Amino acid sequence: MLNPVNGPEIHISFAPRLGLFVAARHRAGRSAVVTDGASTLGHVVESLGVPLTEAGRLLVDGRPVTPAHVPAAGEHVEVLGVERPQPVPGAPLRFLLDVHLGTLARRLRLLGVDAAYESEDIGDPALAAWSARERRVLLSRDRGLLRRRELWAGAYIYSDQPDEQLRDVLERFAPQLAPWKRCTACNGPLTDADKDAVRERLEQGTRRTYDVFAQCTECDRVYWRGAHHARLEAIVENALREFGGAAA
Ligand SMILES: [Zn+2]
Repeated sequence: MLNPVNGPEIHISFAPRLGLFVAARHRAGRSAVVTDGASTLGHVVESLGVPLTEAGRLLVDGRPVTPAHVPAAGEHVEVLGVERPQPVPGAPLRFLLDVHLGTLARRLRLLGVDAAYESEDIGDPALAAWSARERRVLLSRDRGLLRRRELWAGAYIYSDQPDEQLRDVLERFAPQLAPWKRCTACNGPLTDADKDAVRERLEQGTRRTYDVFAQCTECDRVYWRGAHHARLEAIVENALREFGGAAA
């Protein structure tokens, strides 16, 4: 823990984006912090309020160090933000969203991005274990959840507005977009469906008007092109215009 009396004093500065996590006195340039002389820099950064998922490169007197570095007296530490787009090595890019991010989950799925989400609150330990088991980047606005050691990877969601949340995730991780290829209800992949095969499940107007059908391979829900709400079309168009990806 930070010890205000005995330890070495270091100077630390944070990237502007990290300002919301730290006390006001750490927001403008370098500020002094007294450490206990044994804690790692990762621990010091977390103790000051920054989830390590949000810290990018750590520099000591201009040299990169790992979070395991133990700061010594007089060092100047810079905590940068994560690089954007942020590489996520070691697994296909996929996400897990906490219980508060249902709208964002549906929008990511709309764009074809693999976004697991459970509308029931299964609790932090279960979410963290899920992230580890399936190697999913956990998205959350809960700093405590993002500090759990079991997490495979995580990212703080800075906005409480779904439009901004979506732009943030697309900009940060640059996932490949494939709109209308994933079930917004369950995250399952969609497959082309034969109209005759799903005929009895459609209302008469739909049966007459729409010809291209897709069906969820996991929950059997039926989708048809042209029946999408204009708002969803706009979300897809905006995302493709700004962040590219496969054509709709
Ligand atoms: Zn489904």
